[in-house]
Amino acid sequence: MFIRLQGNTTEMDVTCQALYTGYAMPTTHLNQPEPSQQDDLFVDFANTLELSRGEPVEQLPDADSLLDWLRGAGLLSSRARASEASRLHRDAGEANRRLQRFHRLRDILRSAATDLAERGDVGTARIRELNHILRHGLHYHQLHHEPGGARFAVSQVGDRLDQARAAIAGSFAHFLAGGGADRLRICANQGCRYLFIDRSPAGRRRWCDMRTCGNQAKVARHRARARGLAGSPAPAGG
Ligand SMILES: [Zn+2]
Repeated sequence: MFIRLQGNTTEMDVTCQALYTGYAMPTTHLNQPEPSQQDDLFVDFANTLELSRGEPVEQLPDADSLLDWLRGAGLLSSRARASEASRLHRDAGEANRRLQRFHRLRDILRSAATDLAERGDVGTARIRELNHILRHGLHYHQLHHEPGGARFAVSQVGDRLDQARAAIAGSFAHFLAGGGADRLRICANQGCRYLFIDRSPAGRRRWCDMRTCGNQAKVARHRARARGLAGSPAPAGG
């Protein structure tokens, strides 16, 4: 699909964006698969900054690692990932700004989790900031014909990366508004501080891992997750 606007022409997936700072991309991206509605999206994202024996380990140190993560989470198609990478590789300042926006969201999620655990409230300032991010989540559903039926796809309006960020914020928003906020936990192991949702019947879990939350268990879990991510089906249309 191509969109033509006034004299300043932007076409979908054509990246002649040298004059743009990142916001002015009035494109519509079709054929994205329906993203996962699981709570785990914001939890997984919050845990891209993890502690290993108390030392922070940054899983998203640069724009490429961020794009890979978004691709793995189903928030970017392969084609969109390549297009964004090409754009950001040409502009280091823009790449850094985009990365910082995602790091900021992660800060919001982690500090919100801390405040929920300690005070039972996320605070109005944080809600305001989340709402600002959520404003970029403009999308509509479309049906795609398949033999014998149809499947849902999401068409996004606007900037791909801000859309992806809004999707992560949206997963937290659903969780928060859905009444599960008192089940959000930060691992009591000070050397871990892993975010998790306590789904135990009693709701008294304190550790991200029911065993000792030792480093071995953590490494094993991360490896298992990495394997699961690598084996997950690729979004269609990518
Ligand atoms: Zn832990």
